Amino acid sequence: MKCLSCKSGDMEASVTIYFTDLKNCMIIIKNAPCYKCEQCGEVLFSASVAEKLDVLMDKAEILASELTIMEYDRIA
Ligand SMILES: [Zn+2]
Repeated sequence: MKCLSCKSGDMEASVTIYFTDLKNCMIIIKNAPCYKCEQCGEVLFSASVAEKLDVLMDKAEILASELTIMEYDRIA
C-alpha cells in the first residue's frame, strides 16, 4: 500500500499514540494499531480501528476527566 500523503513511501503496519482533545479534556490512547508511512510518517487507521477509537472517545467523554490515558490493547 502506497502512502496517500507523499505518494512514494510504503505504508507499514505499526502502532502509534493517538491523541485528541475534546472541549475540556484530552484523550491519549497508547498502542493503537495503524499503518505508518516509512518515508513521511503519515499515519492511517483501518476502518475497524477508527471505529473503535470513536467508541473510546465517547466513553472518555462520559468519564470527563481532564486527561484520560488508555491502552488500546486492554480496552479493544
Ligand atoms: Zn508518506
